Amino acid sequence: MELFTDQARLLAQRLSDFVQSLQLWDVLDILVIAYLVYRLLLLVRRTNISRLLKGVLFVVIALWLSSGRLRVFNYLLGHVVQWGVVALIVLFQPEIRRILEQVGSSKVPFLDMFSKPQVDRQTVEEAISQTVAACGDMSKSRTGALIVFERHNQMDEILRSGTKLDAEVSSELLKNIFFVKAPMHDGAAIVREGRVLGAGCMLPLSRNVNLSRDLGMRHRAGIGMSENSDAVVVLVSEETGSISVAVGGMLKRHLMTETLEQLLRNELLPQQEEEGEKEKKRLLGKKSAKSGGKKKDGESADE
Ligand code: ATP
Ligand code: MG
Repeated sequence: MELFTDQARLLAQRLSDFVQSLQLWDVLDILVIAYLVYRLLLLVRRTNISRLLKGVLFVVIALWLSSGRLRVFNYLLGHVVQWGVVALIVLFQPEIRRILEQVGSSKVPFLDMFSKPQVDRQTVEEAISQTVAACGDMSKSRTGALIVFERHNQMDEILRSGTKLDAEVSSELLKNIFFVKAPMHDGAAIVREGRVLGAGCMLPLSRNVNLSRDLGMRHRAGIGMSENSDAVVVLVSEETGSISVAVGGMLKRHLMTETLEQLLRNELLPQQEEEGEKEKKRLLGKKSAKSGGKKKDGESADE
């Protein structure tokens, strides 16, 4: 016990020495490093480089473990790492360029670290119901559609391949985009936080060789996008009118509009709040039933 308190006292002493020895430049140094680490974490979250980072970590650990023991292996790996740094810069050139552009364009770089983008629940809910309505209509008219709902992984690169838009999601807009004679009907529409940010975008094709042979390029592109990111992709088949959703490389096919809506709500709305909403609706339903209140059409108490 005494040993423990001695240790604690020593630690407290060291901490106070450290704080006293801190200068303004040290604080600035810490803030700069914290900001850079924060940007790196954001980059990892928004892009799909987390798998690659795991690979880099693996190589670094192998290098460390082999040093002084497996000399030839260590020598070769050392050279691979030297060239690997150059390769990483080439591979991530678009991301690096974007970060530098952001640093250059942000007015106060340190302030934007506190401004977290807030997803407006109502906007997303509206976007979901508009999408479901559009998909129902496009399914009936056999209009092919490919709609990508972005989540954490940002799709700026994909957006560059299409036509830039920035409009609220509406059933009319989606049907207009995918109308077969419209100039933007080819490719995918990208939705971020309830807004259509672009259309006519090229998606990466799936590399899965086990996909059913009756899936054409549209479906392969939708599945490919969901393999490469955490996006939720909604598809309507031009040939059959069937509605599908791709998430995490899995395709759910032949969905009814009700199932599509439920699926999109589950994937795109925060779960906890969703549960809270249901509970609220359930309680409200009970209340109105007790007071003999009439329910509107389509309103359900036990959703
Ligand atoms: P459908 O059931 O609608 O026929 P499908 O899966 O059979 O779909 P195709 O018939 O090959 O697919 O659909 C071709 C359309 O898919 C193209 O006109 C284009 O709009 C879209 N498409 C194809 N490849 C891509 C891609 N890489 N990114 C985005 N859209 C694509
Ligand atoms: Mg086809």
